[in-house]
Parts: sequence; C-alpha cells; structure tokens
Amino acid sequence: MKFRDLGKQYQAMKADIDVSISTVIEKADFIHGEQVGKLEKCLAEYVGVRHCISCANGTDALQLALMAWGIGKGDAVFVPDFTFFASGEVVSAVGAVPIFVDVNPNTFNLSDSALEMVVEKVEKEGKLRPAVVLAVDLFGQPAEHGKIREIAEKHGMLVLEDGAQGFGGRIGERKACSFGDISTTSFFPAKPLGCYGDGGAIFTDNDHWMELIRSYCVHGKGTSKYDNVRIGMNSRLDTLQASVLLGKYPHFVGWELEQVQTVAQWYDELLRGIVEIPCVLEGYYSSWAQYTVKFPDKEIRDGAMRMFAENKIPCAVYYEKPMHRQRAFLDISYEEVDYPVSTKLSQTVLSLPFHPYMSREEVNLVGRLISEYAKEWL
Ligand SMILES: *Cc1c(COP(=O)(O)O)cnc(C)c1O
Repeated sequence: MKFRDLGKQYQAMKADIDVSISTVIEKADFIHGEQVGKLEKCLAEYVGVRHCISCANGTDALQLALMAWGIGKGDAVFVPDFTFFASGEVVSAVGAVPIFVDVNPNTFNLSDSALEMVVEKVEKEGKLRPAVVLAVDLFGQPAEHGKIREIAEKHGMLVLEDGAQGFGGRIGERKACSFGDISTTSFFPAKPLGCYGDGGAIFTDNDHWMELIRSYCVHGKGTSKYDNVRIGMNSRLDTLQASVLLGKYPHFVGWELEQVQTVAQWYDELLRGIVEIPCVLEGYYSSWAQYTVKFPDKEIRDGAMRMFAENKIPCAVYYEKPMHRQRAFLDISYEEVDYPVSTKLSQTVLSLPFHPYMSREEVNLVGRLISEYAKEWL
C-alpha cells in the first residue's frame, strides 16, 4: 500500500500525460512555452480570479506575494503555528517577523480568537506593524476566511492565503485560492494537484500586484529580461510541468476531487467513535490533501505508528513540531502557554494512507488495523 499512489494515478491518465509531455519535447519549448500560458488561464478561470502567475514552487509563490507588497523589516506576519515550515520561512526570508498563532483544535486551521488576541498584543507592544495574516488551508480544508478577513480588515492587514494543500477545496461555491488578497498554491507531486517535480502558482484580482510578481519572478525584469528594474529571483514553472498539469487537470476536477470525498467517507464510517476523525465544517469542501486522525495521547499515537510499521502500512505525522519550536525561529521569543492546541496536535495526530486511487479493501485494512489496536486502550 502507498501513502499516496502516484504510480496508479499515472496509469489512469498515461495517454493524456504522455502526449502532453512529448509535444513540449518535440517543440523544444521548455521555458515560458505555450502550455504555461494555457495552464495559467485555465487555473485562473477555475479558481475564479483574474490572474494566475505560475512559478517554481509553493514557497517562492508565498515569498513573491510578500515581495509584491513590500513586506520586510518592522512588519509582523501572523502565521498558524501548525503548518509546513515554508509558511513561516518566507516571512523571515523577506526580513519580517513571523508571529505564530494557535489553531482550531477541530479543523487545525488558524484560530480566529487566538488571532484577534495576538494581533492586539502586537499592536499594544508597538514594536512591529501588523501587516499580513497568512492563512493556511491545512490538509485540504479552507481556513475560516470569513472571520479571518474581518479581523484583517479591522486591523488594516492584508490576507495571504497559503493554498498549497487547499487547491480544489471551497467554501460554498467559492474556490480555495480566491480568498486572499493574494493566494498561492504548490504543485509538489504529493499535493492535491501535483506535477512531476516542483511547481507553484499565485492568484490575485489585482493588476498592479500581478505585474510586480511577473517582474519579480524573472529577475525583476522591466521591459525585458535584460532590463532589470528591481532585485527579483528566477522562479518559473517549466513548460514540461505545465504540460503535466494540463494533462492531469481534467482528471482532477472531473473525478479525483469527487473520489477523495468517497474515500474520506469510507474512512469516516470505519473510524468514527474509535479515533477522532477529521472535521469538515458545514458548507466547506475539502480537497483532502491529508486524512488525519487524532489519538487520545502521544503514547497511543506512537504505538499506532509502530503497529502500522509492523504491518508495512505507511503513515506520517504532519507535523511533529509546532512552528514556534523550530530551531530556525529560536531568536524570536514565543511563549509556550500561547500554543496549547498546536502542541497537543503535534503529539496526537496521524495521517493515514490516502489518495483517489485507494480501493475499498485497502481502506478496510487500515480501518481494521486501527480498530484492533484500539482494543488495547478503548
Ligand atoms: C507544500 C507546502 C508549501 C510549499 O510548497 P513547495 O512547492 O514545496 O515549495 C507551503 N505551504 C504549505 C502549507 C505546504 O504544505
């Protein structure tokens, strides 16, 4: 059994992807080729925003957004304490300070009450300017963007949606990657919509920011790549990766997104009442980047990992360490008491094998192993 079976996925869409890739190679159109523009147009339409700018990966996408806004020294960016390192890394990379905020114990996304409290604390201290809320759509479920936007507006902040795991999700009819003033995603192979290497994209309705980002991602270009008007970076999506994504896209929207709802339901039915199953809020739709359950405590969770290892079933802990405990941020002082939820989550969560090509038998096997293991502690 695979944690995420990209081999099976390839077999299901091999014809489309092979044609897509060979077209690019035959035309030797590797950088900024036709497929790049085609993909950007397609994804902007899907998400429902005016502009999509592709780039080299989801981390660059976040950093490019912060650069377009001129975020840097003296700015505070509020980031959930329970996320992948990149969400905080980019803030330090541009010279601003990441202020980590505890999360909602049910959705694992940014807690609006904790956010409000921490923003007021930073305002009161007066050392940093509250500039941006970086809201992550964790494990495929959009953050609570309605409440987050209210708080951001009240304090004069911009919202950056980190939709690296959220692409394909929605709240009501509104799609993930449309909730931020700028939103970003990642096409890392294991993300909901992944390519065959690194890739990322930035979404916005704002023409000015779009133009700045198009410049920053090609060496701060002016009228051409050899006319350089600002310090930028080299961050492009390869034409080959764009062609892989164009090949996958119809399968993703036409089948995979619906199928992962079914797989999640199978797990829910088997595991409800045994472990704490994922909570998708009313009106929310998850793209299920992960299916993550909670055990009662660390000892039982670690025992579950050993049990899975013995049975040769893959599983993973996202995330073992809350952001405020990462050594890279040791020079910033965070108070342990501010993070009860993320600390507990890092000790009790476990992500199970999950992808659209999982069979009912595979899900049953994982379910059975957990219910048998549960007899030891229930
Ligand atoms: C994967 C991920 C990123 C970074 O994306 P890359 O394409 O790997 O650079 C950023 N934020 C979150 C929440 C992620 O899961």
